[in-house]
Amino acid sequence: MSDCLFCKIVAGDVPATKVHETETTLAFRDINPQAKVHVLVVPKTHHEDVVELAAADPQLLADVVATGAAVAKAEGIDVSGFRFVFNTGEHAGRTVFHAHLHVLGGEQLGLFGRPTG
Ligand code: AMP
Ligand code: ZN
Repeated sequence: MSDCLFCKIVAGDVPATKVHETETTLAFRDINPQAKVHVLVVPKTHHEDVVELAAADPQLLADVVATGAAVAKAEGIDVSGFRFVFNTGEHAGRTVFHAHLHVLGGEQLGLFGRPTG
C-alpha cells in the first residue's frame, strides 16, 4: 500500500530504529514510547488489522508473535515481563492501519482499560 506509513518503513522509505528483522516481519522502536521498552512488530505485507491478519494468514500472525517474543528476549524483558497489545478500532485509539503488535515492558506497567483520572 503506497500511502501506508508502516509499508513505507518496511520498504525503507521512512526511517525507523529497527531492532529485529525476519523474512516476514520487522520490529522497530515506537516513536512515542509508552514504556521504557516499546517496540512495534509488523508483518512485512500489508494487513489492515490483527483480525484480518489472523483470517488471511495465521502463520504470519504466529511469525509476528514469535518476533515479539524474540524482541522481549533481546531487550532483556522476557523474565521481568512484558505486554503484547493489538489496538483495533476507534475506542482503542488506533492510529495506523497496518497490523502491528506493541511490545511493552522494562518497568512496572500501569493498568489497562478505562482511562484513569
Ligand atoms: P496504534 O495506536 O495502535 O495504531 O499505534 C500506532 C503506533 O505507531 C503509536 O504508538 C505511534 O507512536 C507509532 N508511530 C507512529 N508513527 C511512527 C513512526 N514513524 N515510527 C515509529 N512509530 C510510529
Ligand atoms: Zn501497510
